[in-house]
Amino acid sequence: MNREHSSILYIWLPCQKIYPVGPTYLAAYIHRKRPHIRQRILDLSTIPRRERQRTILDMVEAFKPDLIAFSWRDIQIYAPHGGDPSLELAFDFYYSRDMLRRVKAGLKGLRMVFTYENGIREKLHLLQKTIKAFPDKTITLGGGALSVFSREIIRRLPHGVIGVIGEGEEALLAVADGRDLKGHRVIYRENGSIISGTPANPVSVGDIHVDYNYITSIFPEAASYFGETIGIQTKRGCPYHCEFCLYPYIEGEQVRYRDPEAILREIDYLYTHWNTRKIWFADAQFIPGSAAVPHCTTLLEGLVRRGRPVEWSGYVRTSLITPKLAGLMVASGVGDLEISITSGSQKVLNEMGMGFRLDHLYEGCRYLKKEGYRGKVTLNYSMNAPGETEETLLESIHSYKVIADIMGKGRIRPVIFFIGVQPHTRIEERLIESGYLEKTYDPLSLNPFSIRKLLYNPPPLDRMIAASCLEAWGEKEEERGERVMLALEKRLRGE
Ligand code: SF4
Repeated sequence: MNREHSSILYIWLPCQKIYPVGPTYLAAYIHRKRPHIRQRILDLSTIPRRERQRTILDMVEAFKPDLIAFSWRDIQIYAPHGGDPSLELAFDFYYSRDMLRRVKAGLKGLRMVFTYENGIREKLHLLQKTIKAFPDKTITLGGGALSVFSREIIRRLPHGVIGVIGEGEEALLAVADGRDLKGHRVIYRENGSIISGTPANPVSVGDIHVDYNYITSIFPEAASYFGETIGIQTKRGCPYHCEFCLYPYIEGEQVRYRDPEAILREIDYLYTHWNTRKIWFADAQFIPGSAAVPHCTTLLEGLVRRGRPVEWSGYVRTSLITPKLAGLMVASGVGDLEISITSGSQKVLNEMGMGFRLDHLYEGCRYLKKEGYRGKVTLNYSMNAPGETEETLLESIHSYKVIADIMGKGRIRPVIFFIGVQPHTRIEERLIESGYLEKTYDPLSLNPFSIRKLLYNPPPLDRMIAASCLEAWGEKEEERGERVMLALEKRLRGE
């Protein structure tokens, strides 16, 4: 491990095609700190499955890196996302009264489990094959999947692979320099044991300046993202403690900011050279507390000054929007928004450690509306969270109606989720303490009993909520959330 490296190949393991922000920032950081290091980014999402292994082997032969840095974006087993039918299948299988529907869901669910399992196996296989073919290379693995499932993944990989948990810039720099890694958030196997480094200071992200001209030169596949949404981080870290969330674990609780001028220059470059018209501010939270408001204001003022027709979005806490910020958001081209309201009950929100007040969230929506916001808002609810009662469910339904009244009904789309229990979250801790989960449970298990437990929907409200979901899920995708709300309301009111 302790040798200096002069070339790095970043390999973005295949996932849903999405711009590889992580490898871009790592390469930009290393380039600023060690400009002599040759670098190349390879994005496997842009390459057909059967050609991926060969592409890696050819690339390593041709580029001859001495360090290969794999990045594994995520493993989304229990956190279904848009367009992913796994939640519906699971509910059909566990709760439908129609035997035929259950059997069909069981079969389709099995296929999905197989696909998930296959996706995980493919990535492990790509890693293992590369390591076997090039035993003299230093191999690192980072990204969200490794950060969350570090022990489970590192156990399945050969000795010598260095897992990097959370932010990778400083750890990778230490690997590249051949320095000792004990003071970094790394994990690796040695003599049959798993060794973890101690957490280092958070990366000072003010040092991250992305030279996209350089990135274009080391990442030819970037061309496939021209004209598409590009993720940009404006800050890292989140000080809140929402019980189900992994961001504070991955990025840390201390919020650190990038230089707004550097971000604006990057957007200028992307607009001009990559034909970028949509930006996703890939922050854990775009406004992580009132202390972040001046930074957000400076950035948005800069966007307004530049006057480029670039639409932006991100996870935004509307509870922190001031009238001035609302005006700037609209003037700077904010697009559709996704708001994790989670619950319409202040009691449940407090229980979940969400750290915001509902009346402030409504207030933020009013400011946006007043400033002429015309985008659509996705409202994410997590039903049956700890502390949920029939009364709090009615409050959630009411909150949807309040926001629909403020923003206009056609502009609001409620989406119903359930908490997917994941390692390193407070909810996981709490469920282990209460005996709901075994201390030794396998977070990657795909057996039906584990899935049922980790897709958190406990009694006594589980059946009523599930029945409402099953009733509504036959409807058009855009209407489903609202239908669930209305079906649930009828049941709760005994109509
Ligand atoms: S505010 Fe958002 S990013 Fe921060 S802990 Fe809560 S859910 Fe996570």
